[in-house]
Amino acid sequence: MGFFDFMTEDIAIDLGTANTLIIHNDKVVIDSPSIVARDRVSGKIIAVGKEANMMQGKTHENIKTIRPLKDGVIADFDASEKMISMFIKSIEPMAAAIGIGIDIMQPKGNMIVDIGGGTTEIAVIALGGIVCDKSVKIAGDVFTNDIVYYMRTQHNLFVGEATAEKIKITIGAALEELESPPDDMSVQGRDLLTGKPKQVEVSYREIAKALDKSIQRIEDAVMETLSQTPPELAADIYNTGIYLAGGGSMLRGLDKRISQKTDLPVYIAEDPLRAVVRGTGMALKNIPKFRSILIK
Ligand code: ADP
Ligand code: MG
Repeated sequence: MGFFDFMTEDIAIDLGTANTLIIHNDKVVIDSPSIVARDRVSGKIIAVGKEANMMQGKTHENIKTIRPLKDGVIADFDASEKMISMFIKSIEPMAAAIGIGIDIMQPKGNMIVDIGGGTTEIAVIALGGIVCDKSVKIAGDVFTNDIVYYMRTQHNLFVGEATAEKIKITIGAALEELESPPDDMSVQGRDLLTGKPKQVEVSYREIAKALDKSIQRIEDAVMETLSQTPPELAADIYNTGIYLAGGGSMLRGLDKRISQKTDLPVYIAEDPLRAVVRGTGMALKNIPKFRSILIK
């Protein structure tokens, strides 16, 4: 079935590096990690989504878990499905904007920063079009790797990706001073020196340090996009501010940090993990109104 069949059926898909969401008639019908488990011997896919996610890191030697999307594109499908992915990706900041509730057809400029798993998509939108945009491969997955690296180098502790992601979600921060800080977290892993299991206490301040360089690169990309924005639209953004979406936007203090860097108000989308799929669904429901955006 081609993508246009999906459109007539009023189904919207958000195929992300980390999560895939599908909505049908305004209801989220699929909300699963973008992971598949494959049997190495038969080559068969034996589980997908949450079930495959649970097998990650704990797999039998004959089972391999893979993320079919890498850096925002499908790495494992045939060309036509790749095309669908690119199509969805190309409307992503627009979809996020609609999902956030911005009236994208107005002649005003709005800036959207969608921090997903593999990529951060930055776009300035006005009159239903993307005025300027930038995509950087610094997002949730890089944050997770930063934490793995930090634990190894600062605590001599080897932790897996799943543990690092848990740390990110539980105490992840973009600022070393937070107004309502989370409690320290006990983290278990393997001592790199002795090889034995070990537990350490980790604070959000440490995670802010671990993520600092990566967040700086996102800030730089935001600044660069702002500097490429035509002055009239930049003036609009001065009033409307910047909207954050995607799972990465939930890092504590990230809104404040970007606001300090840009001197602009920064808002986080309601339910940031779903802003894109919500917007895609709304766009598909209003095809005549949004036709120029969907049919590129
Ligand atoms: P994609 O569109 O690429 O699938 P998403 O917008 O679904 O990405 O966001 C997924 C990313 O958000 C993952 O890297 C995940 O670890 C991260 N994430 C989810 N919840 C949080 C949280 N509370 N704090 C920080 N990062 C989070
Ligand atoms: Mg996304």
